[in-house]
Amino acid sequence: MTTNKQSLSAFHHRSITDRAEFWAEQATLIDWHKPFTQVLDDSRLPFARWFLGGETNLCHNAVDRHLPTLADKPALIFVSTETGAERTYTFAELHSEVMRMAAVMQALGVERGDRVLIYMPMIAEAAFAMLACARIGAIHSVVFGGFASHSLASRIDDAAPRLIVSADAGSRGGKVIPYKGLLDEAISLATSKPDAVLMVDRGLAPYALVAGRDHDYAPLRDQHLNAIVPVTWLESNEISYTLYTSGTTGKPKGVQRDVGGYAVALAASMKHIFCGNQGETYFSTSDIGWVVGHSYIVYGPLIAGMATIMYEGTPVRPDAGILWQLVERYKVTVMFSAPTAIRVLKKQDPAWLTRYDTSSLRALFLAGEPLDEPTARWISESLGRPIIDNYWQTETGWPILTVAHGIEKTPTRFGSPGMPMYGYDVRLLHEQTGEEVGPNEKGVVAVLPPLPPGCMQTVWGDDERFVKTYFSSIPGKLAYSTFDWGVRDDDGYYFILGRTDDVINVAGHRLGTREIEESLSSHAAVAECAVVGVADTLKGQVAVGFAVVKDPSLIEEIDDRLKLEGELMATVDRQLGAVARPSRVYFVSTLPKTRSGKVLRRSIQAVCEGRDPGDLTTIEDPSTLEQVRQALAGR
Ligand code: AMP
Repeated sequence: MTTNKQSLSAFHHRSITDRAEFWAEQATLIDWHKPFTQVLDDSRLPFARWFLGGETNLCHNAVDRHLPTLADKPALIFVSTETGAERTYTFAELHSEVMRMAAVMQALGVERGDRVLIYMPMIAEAAFAMLACARIGAIHSVVFGGFASHSLASRIDDAAPRLIVSADAGSRGGKVIPYKGLLDEAISLATSKPDAVLMVDRGLAPYALVAGRDHDYAPLRDQHLNAIVPVTWLESNEISYTLYTSGTTGKPKGVQRDVGGYAVALAASMKHIFCGNQGETYFSTSDIGWVVGHSYIVYGPLIAGMATIMYEGTPVRPDAGILWQLVERYKVTVMFSAPTAIRVLKKQDPAWLTRYDTSSLRALFLAGEPLDEPTARWISESLGRPIIDNYWQTETGWPILTVAHGIEKTPTRFGSPGMPMYGYDVRLLHEQTGEEVGPNEKGVVAVLPPLPPGCMQTVWGDDERFVKTYFSSIPGKLAYSTFDWGVRDDDGYYFILGRTDDVINVAGHRLGTREIEESLSSHAAVAECAVVGVADTLKGQVAVGFAVVKDPSLIEEIDDRLKLEGELMATVDRQLGAVARPSRVYFVSTLPKTRSGKVLRRSIQAVCEGRDPGDLTTIEDPSTLEQVRQALAGR
């Protein structure tokens, strides 16, 4: 895999000191219709433009480019354990399907630069729609299928799409979730109205078409079965998509991405970080509604000539072996998931992990939230495969911190996502002085501009907000703030300590809730936990913990609960000091989380403080917050 011997630090150094040469080299990993004339324009920082004058296309690089060599090889593998559907599309078939979808979009009036909002479950047509937009130069904006009408309406208003592509329903845990009612409501709530709505009918939930606006996909597809839709060549800095960031309140923030920089960044990451090879299979358990779905379900693996699995289902249905069964069946070499999924599996019989042949798997990549050491250790030992944590954000599109085994086999370290990736000039900065902090000192994880290719260009329609939100919080420095705390050890490994906005201050001591969570989860009884800062008249704030135990019989009686709570506090005392000890640790059976698996700490905090928990449109299960209330009330 490693072609030329070099160290990651030398590779990284070159990417920062000689950006133009470095990225020009990476740019050879994709096809260009017209070569670029300038690698980087950083004359207007923090705005950066990459590969100026170059013309390319994401769909061409993901699909057409592979036709001469991979036409009959798998490209998209759609598996739904919800409906039992399973179908493999070869690159040639994917090419045809994308052209059909593109032709239908064009027939509905979609042109280059128009927005197309995609509100769909994890079905193959969702990927066709994304690729079709990319093909014709339309800007897609995928909205996670779990969002309800209000969130959808605000995104419709922000993106002002000409077309919305949707489906009759999604399904989760065996429960059908009809989409059309939510969509109709969202459109009626929104000020901006789409010209057309395109519906993929899966036969799961009946719906009505609005005359003159709504169209069923199947008959239109039939009319365009033999469509030939040529690729629209786009200047590298044209917009490929916008994606609204999760967890934001108020006006949604559309992360806007380019074409050429994104394609190059993904191609480079597939080579250097994920080490995926043409002809192999990639499996990401994420959803197309999230950035991982964009970068590492659809575009990244396909650009690398890999087959990609699109999975509709949960990790435990029909049983807790399903993910590994798919690894065995499709000989997956690279897998991508989230720590939450692993913590869910941790509560199941570990025998599921060894039941299937997972020897094809070279590594399991985990991202999206902190990977606590006990979970990392557990999955690493149970699976017997390398576990690679990687830290990034919707805004960056690809990893900021991880290891790049395509460059150097740097050992991983439990609890650390790794080190700065090439292209990212990562600094740990003091939040008040803006100065760099030393090893083992906590600072804000920041990136000095220019951000590398693939990162957000701006906030859609709001350059000022881009600068204000991301580049104005570090005193005296133009630096991109990740809003995460981090620390670097003496060997250069970074550790993420939690959001700067989740920081708690107990009696003048600043603490990362993440550190306390790590400590609580190191107790053998704990499956997962969340810690929030709760207002306290004496100490300013105190830490309050909520824990899910692996074996509920351990906490059946009140005495058992008190005993375990005492043990957990003693663990924190022992590991971090009494200052970090939570004032209480409550037990719940599930933590309140978003559909993407992020713990809703702010909402928990609000409930603890008797406040309104805020926007709950992303919550996976509203009853989990009720559990928090009941735990607080001592029931
Ligand atoms: P999102 O944009 O929704 O993917 O969220 C990005 C945020 O998730 C980051 O700012 C971190 O707070 C968190 N995050 C993502 N990956 C990791 C990781 N590997 N370790 C710790 N935190 C992570």
